[in-house]
This record gives sequence, C-alpha cells and structure tokens, in this order.
Amino acid sequence: MKFKNLSVRRKILLTNFMMIVIPVFIVLLVMAVILAGILTGGGPGVMIAAAEKWAGETTNYQLQLMIDSISEQLVEEEDAFRENSSMRELCRKLEQTGIHIAIADDTGVRYLSEGTSYEALERQADELGASSAPSFVRTQDGFACRAVTKTAAGAYSITAAAPGFAYPQGEYYAYDSIKAHLKVILVVVSAAAVVIILLTGVFLSRKLSRSILDPVEKLGKATEALCKGDLDQPVGYGSEDELGQVCKGFDEMRIRLRESRRREERYRQQRKQLIAGISHDLSTPITSIQGYVSGILDGIADTPEKRERYLHTIYDRACDMNRMVDGLFLLTKLDLDREPFHMERTDLAQYFKEKYPGWKEKIPDMELEVHMDGSRGVFVQIDRFQFERVVANLIDNSSKYRRGAHGKVNIYLVRNAGAAEITFRDDGIGIAENEEEKIFESFYRADPARNTEKGSGLGLAIARQIVEHMGGKIWAQAVQSGGLIIRIRLPEAGGEQ
Ligand code: ADP
Repeated sequence: MKFKNLSVRRKILLTNFMMIVIPVFIVLLVMAVILAGILTGGGPGVMIAAAEKWAGETTNYQLQLMIDSISEQLVEEEDAFRENSSMRELCRKLEQTGIHIAIADDTGVRYLSEGTSYEALERQADELGASSAPSFVRTQDGFACRAVTKTAAGAYSITAAAPGFAYPQGEYYAYDSIKAHLKVILVVVSAAAVVIILLTGVFLSRKLSRSILDPVEKLGKATEALCKGDLDQPVGYGSEDELGQVCKGFDEMRIRLRESRRREERYRQQRKQLIAGISHDLSTPITSIQGYVSGILDGIADTPEKRERYLHTIYDRACDMNRMVDGLFLLTKLDLDREPFHMERTDLAQYFKEKYPGWKEKIPDMELEVHMDGSRGVFVQIDRFQFERVVANLIDNSSKYRRGAHGKVNIYLVRNAGAAEITFRDDGIGIAENEEEKIFESFYRADPARNTEKGSGLGLAIARQIVEHMGGKIWAQAVQSGGLIIRIRLPEAGGEQ
C-alpha cells in the first residue's frame, strides 16, 4: 500500500517509528562499515603502520601485533620468503625498531636479520627469558619473543630478540592510543548520528505534513470555488486515508449540490412554462365564452336555436376550463406530495383481465388487445385508482391521436429483470423523436394547432408523476413507421407469484 493511502494515524505512527529506525539503522551501518574497514581493510599495511612508534615508544601491543602479523603472513602468503613479500616488509619494519628476527623450519634458517647470526639470536632470546615457544618477554633488559606457526608447508619457528630494547616510560599501553582513536570515532559517529537524526526528522516530518497539508490546501481551494458558485471544480485528491475520505465526501456533496441546482433550474423553467401554459390555455376558452356571451347580448343570436347553440358552446368551454383546472389541481397536489396514495399488492395480469371490458367500451371504434406473458401473475405495488388514471389517459390519447376513424392499441405485459414492463403501442399519428421527453412536460402539445381542442396537455405530466410516486418509470418511444410506444416499468413486489 502506498504511503499516501495510509490512514493519517498510521502515517504518524510510521513516521515516528521511521524517525527512530532510520537513524539507528544508518548509524549502525556506518559503524559496521568503520569496523569492517578496521578489521578487514587493514592487512599488512595497517600492521606496518601499527609498528610506527607512538610518542617515541614502541608498545608491547605493537610488538605482539607485529609478531602475530608475521605469523599470519607465513600462513597466508603464497611464498612469504620471496623478495618484497609482505612478510619480509613486516620483518624489515620490526628491524627498524632495533629488533633482530629469525625464521626457521625443518630445512634450516629461512630468514635472518642482517647483522646477527641464528645462534646469537637464539642465545639472546634464551638469556632474556624466552627459552621456549610461545613466549613474549619484555623487561628493562630488552625484548625477546618466540613463536611457532604451523602452515600447510610445515611449522616455522620465529625468534626475535633485542637486548637493551627501550622499555616504555611509565604506564604506556596501546590501549591509550586506541582510546584516543575511539574518542575521535565516537565524536564523529555522534556528530553523524545527530546530523542523520535531524535530516531524517526533517525529511519525514516534511513528508507527513505535506500529506496532510496537500489535501487541506486542495479542499480550501475547492471550498473557495464553491463559495464563488463554481460547482464544477473537483477537489482532486485521490487517497484512501481519512482526509481522502473527507475530500471524497466533499466532492459528493458538490455533485449533489450541482444536481439540485440543475433540478431547481429545471423546476423554475417548468413553472414558467406552466404559468405561460395556464395563461394561454385559459385565455382561449375565456375569449370564446366572451365572444358567445356578447353575441347573445348584442342580439346576434336572434333565434332560440342560435341562442341554445351559443349557450351549449359556452357550457362546453366552461367544462374545458373546469377539466383544465381539475388537472392542474391534481398536478399541483402530486407535485407537493399532497395526493394520497393507497398502495396495494396487485397482480397486473389479473388487473388487466378485470379492466379490459371497461377500457374497450370507452373506445368502441378501436381495436384493443392485451398480450400477457403466460398465465403467471405479475405482482406490483400500485394505487389502483391512480394507476387506472394513467392507463385511461394512455388509451384516451391513442384514441384522440389516431390516424383515421379506426385504430389499434396493443398492450403488452412482461416481467423483465425484477420489474413489470407494460407497453402501450398504437398506430396513430405518433410524435417526432425529439419529442419523446417533451410530451411529458405540462402543456406541451406535439402539434398545438391540432391538439388544443383535444386535450389540456396535462395528461402525460400527471401520468409521469403518478408512476414515479409508485416507484416506477414511464417513457415514450417514437415509432418511425408511425404510432407511439409508451412504456411503464414498475418494480415487482416480492411474495407468491
Ligand atoms: P393532451 O391532453 O394534450 O393529450 P397529454 O399530456 O396526454 O396531453 O399529451 C401531450 C401531447 O403528447 C399531446 O398533445 C400529443 O401531441 C402527444 N401525444 C400523447 N399521446 C399520443 C399518442 N398516443 N399519439 C400521438 N401523440 C400523442
């Protein structure tokens, strides 16, 4: 998992942990490198350097180190006795301090310092107290040492002696020099540790603060944009941590706000249309009523038959207005959720069978067929009274907008993906494809010139409100060959089928 996606709590824990672990690890690594350098990188070179006098004295430690190194080289070097070998170099260094050395094996003396003989050296060693190997003697009288080194080629005996070799003044041990070195190493390592801890701390706390401040900054910018009314600017911080969740929540809120603003805009638009529709649709019958009433008053309707015809027309227009006001009232109640709905679990197959004769009776000049998917029930939750309103309006529309004197309406009922789908298909005048949505707006008429007489333009708007109140959907599909398809989808109610 990426650092960015960790929870803030974990980030803080991890960073604090790392602040300790990383410097400790680096310090240990540095120490390991230094130690490895001391232990492995030295070789004879370091040993030779160790033979240099410390403050004018050669310490016991240095002498022992030199003898040990010569032994080691005898074992390790391929031909330790060749010219310029490391072993010879070590011997030479030892000789520079005034010590004579001899190396012998079964075959005889293999190495002997200049200016002495093997016998003299042996004797000196014996006299100084180094009579057997291994021994290391250092007294006021001098220095002597014997060692035996076993190699694959055989055993070598090393004898070194220096009568009168200066004894170190006072307490003088190699340890002191190591202490001095250790002090330097400790100071360097401590300083490095402090620097490493500081750098790690700065780096990690920067990373942590960035991971917190980054989303906060982005959130701040998005809020500013939101305050200015720009609802299209996303926060743009995609992480799974707590702050990422906050940013995600903020984005969701912004999208909802945007949707609600669009809805509000649409709603305002619809209200404007509604008012324009009402004014227009009321003015037509009112003007007509005015005309006929003044006709009667002015004596234009001068015969009883004419007067009766005028009065009938006035009555019809008043009925139109009444229907429109009823429709508007219903639409407003649905809009405000004031229309009561009594939902019942209903088998639509059974419902269609029961209602069919009544519907047929309303459109005697048209063919009406109901097609169902087998004999099984299709259960939905509906308000039977309101649903009847919807179906009646659809059948009425098919009859109103038929092509000629006759027409055909087919109703299909099928179950589809957990829903009941009811399709009303007629072979009437139909609508254009771009009107599929518009016909559900109040007062919209596909052909105003032909339709004002036929309807209020509220039927489908009411039908959509009712279907949506019942948890369903309604939409239209223009048919190119003519006619119209209206589909209703209602969620199936569970239980016995
Ligand atoms: P109206 O009372 O005018 O019929 P609706 O809301 O029921 O109001 O219908 C809106 C418009 O949709 C109608 O004016 C008509 O132009 C069109 N329309 C509705 N149903 C049909 C149909 N079956 N065939 C053709 N056009 C239709």
